[in-house]
This record gives sequence, structure tokens and C-alpha cells, in this order.
Amino acid sequence: MNTQTFCQSCSMPIFEDALKGTKADGSRSDEFCTYCYQKGTFTQDVTMTEMIEICVPHMVKSGMPEKEARTLLKTTLPNLARWK
Ligand SMILES: [Zn+2]
Repeated sequence: MNTQTFCQSCSMPIFEDALKGTKADGSRSDEFCTYCYQKGTFTQDVTMTEMIEICVPHMVKSGMPEKEARTLLKTTLPNLARWK
């Protein structure tokens, strides 16, 4: 799989099947990651603003400055399927 997919909830890159969430029937979701979506429902019932606050620390941990992570999420998340 070479096409890069991004979770339509948190914008995390989904680069392998193991990171895909699961639908109600147990099959893999092509839209959402395993952290956001399990058995057809979102694991966290949050607003987009809350999702940004959840994601920022993870991105900082992986080496991105906090301000940059916040700006990126604020521009990316509104375009994702979950928040449209
Ligand atoms: Zn996600």
C-alpha cells in the first residue's frame, strides 16, 4: 500500500492496516484510525477543539514544536470527514 491515508478524525497517517479502526461488523475502516474508531463508533465523543488538544501532545512527543502542531491541526481537521 503506497497511497497515504489520513485518519478522517485526528489526521494521523494510517500507513498500515493495523492502524485502521474497525467497523461494526469487525472489518477495517478505510477512513478512521484504530485510536478514533472501534466497532463502528468513535472512541472519544469530543469536539474538534478537544480533538486538537488531544493530538497536540502526541505530535510534540514525535518532535514537532507545539505551536506548529496546533496550527497544522487547526488547518487540517476542519477538512476531515468527521468535522465537516
Ligand atoms: Zn484517528
